Amino acid sequence: MTKAFIFLGPPGCGKGTQTDILSKELNLPHVDTGSLLRKNISEKTEIGKIAQGYIDKGQLVPLEVVSTVIKNRLMEDDCKNGYILDGFPRSLEQAGALDKIIEELNQKIEMTAVYFDIPTEVLVERLVNRRSCPKCGKIYNIKTSAPKVENKCDDCKVDLIQRKDDTKETALLRFETYEKETHPLLDFYTKRGVLKTINANQPVKDVWAELAKIAGI
Ligand code: AMP
Repeated sequence: MTKAFIFLGPPGCGKGTQTDILSKELNLPHVDTGSLLRKNISEKTEIGKIAQGYIDKGQLVPLEVVSTVIKNRLMEDDCKNGYILDGFPRSLEQAGALDKIIEELNQKIEMTAVYFDIPTEVLVERLVNRRSCPKCGKIYNIKTSAPKVENKCDDCKVDLIQRKDDTKETALLRFETYEKETHPLLDFYTKRGVLKTINANQPVKDVWAELAKIAGI
């Protein structure tokens, strides 16, 4: 049986940080469409060229593009025993596409959708203060979880970067997209009986405690 976790929540809710912890604990790959798309952009692939304009505007990249990226990733060997989906699906049509991909890959799935519940007011601040390591992907917040040396990754010692779409203007557009496209998924996975909700408006270790319980750790 393949364990699939689907992490849902607005931009900056802490899904990425928690996925990293869960991924290490359960030895499951972290499949993050945002990072996969950004990798395509930095490698200047065809997919990257299409994705760039949508990402800059805080809009969803078209279905065929993200479906291709996800399908290719889920076909890789390390996804055989399960995976944690962070940032996919992000709309009802993507949820349908995911079901189709799982069927095509003939995976027997035990699915758990986890909603990171947090008021959006606190998130703009989080996003504009977010920095990450370009090498290992570790996420920092310059106000609440700053690196030991200013703007350097604690582990890799390289300069941290700020995502281009983590500005206030683009963040607000991303929230709008989230409300319109992604929020309806909560109802979709509730009806399917697989949705669990955690309070994401607390320190990382407390969010993790709730998530660990859900994951049976
Ligand atoms: P994230 O890193 O998850 O915040 O995603 C950054 C941006 O990548 C989003 O604002 C979208 O433009 C794009 N993106 C990421 N995941 C998806 C997805 N599942 N569907 C469409 N666009 C996506």
